[in-house]
Amino acid sequence: MTNPALSVIKSDLAEKWQQILSDLITDPKELLQILQLDADKIPYSRAALQQFPLKAPRPYVDRIEKGNWQDPLLRQIWPSTQEEIGQAGFDTDPLAEAQFNPVPGILHKYRGRVLLTAAAHCGIHCRYCFRRHFDYQSNSPSRQQWDAAFDYIRNDSSIEEVILSGGDPLAISDRQLAWLVEQLAQIPQLTTLRIHSRLAIVIPQRINRDLLHSLQQSRLKVVLVVHCNHSRELAPELAQSFGMLAANGVTILNQSVLLKDVNDNSPALIDLSKSLFQHNVLPYYLHLPDRVAGTSHFDVSEAHAIALLSSMQTQLPGYLVPQLVRETPGQSSKTRIA
Ligand code: SF4
Repeated sequence: MTNPALSVIKSDLAEKWQQILSDLITDPKELLQILQLDADKIPYSRAALQQFPLKAPRPYVDRIEKGNWQDPLLRQIWPSTQEEIGQAGFDTDPLAEAQFNPVPGILHKYRGRVLLTAAAHCGIHCRYCFRRHFDYQSNSPSRQQWDAAFDYIRNDSSIEEVILSGGDPLAISDRQLAWLVEQLAQIPQLTTLRIHSRLAIVIPQRINRDLLHSLQQSRLKVVLVVHCNHSRELAPELAQSFGMLAANGVTILNQSVLLKDVNDNSPALIDLSKSLFQHNVLPYYLHLPDRVAGTSHFDVSEAHAIALLSSMQTQLPGYLVPQLVRETPGQSSKTRIA
């Protein structure tokens, strides 16, 4: 039965997110024109664009301050020439994920849970992305390969949680997502479905009635982990959308990446935690950036990260302080830094 409260999320938003997704800004010149910035001031890297094209949804670009090259939201999507700087220790597969890929679409890194690459694309291209060199082509299962992925999960009774990742799992249609959720719910030992999404932040229209409906109907306990790095990314309407998800039993957490000149200062991090809470989201992880080739200009030292965390601890209640972590390939879980 449909929860009458779901009607608060208007049905006319149901397909709007797909229109936005099919109309991303991909040309740096268009982006600069919208932001009233002069292309001659800071050139972009054609090589970086070729390896990892620009993709920016218009609602996200609307939140960037016009005329400001230093805007923290712009920095996350701008294909800077700094990406051409090669740096020792920065790799195309920093988490060695290729070795944890038993069947197409599955990454099995930790005991008790597996990751499904539900989508091969995203609603935005974050320049710091740890999967910007990932082989999505070999990890976009066909319907037949999905069966092999489900069998892999079914045959390992230790797996209790499936994490939908990508790409961005919310980039697939509501119908595809509903099918996936339904298939997973039929695997008896699964208890939890976790969805990791940045699209929910950068295209707020994505939280629509059909999505709510399929999550609410599932027997699985659902956790949505959104990826938000700066308080200015949070559109006001998300407070209501996330509130509605929470009212329907979905746990909503946030993980951020600590990024140089984006959020590597304590006012920005404190503001982010407070804003997340106002939007019905709890801070969960603050990640040190993975050492991905082409992203060294986002790197933050461990010492600086620890100092920032300590500053947050003295100024926020404990439930608003995320765990500072780094992912190290081969470890049985993420490594807590402080
Ligand atoms: S949304 Fe996530 S997977 Fe997609 S580009 Fe950004 S960081 Fe990478």
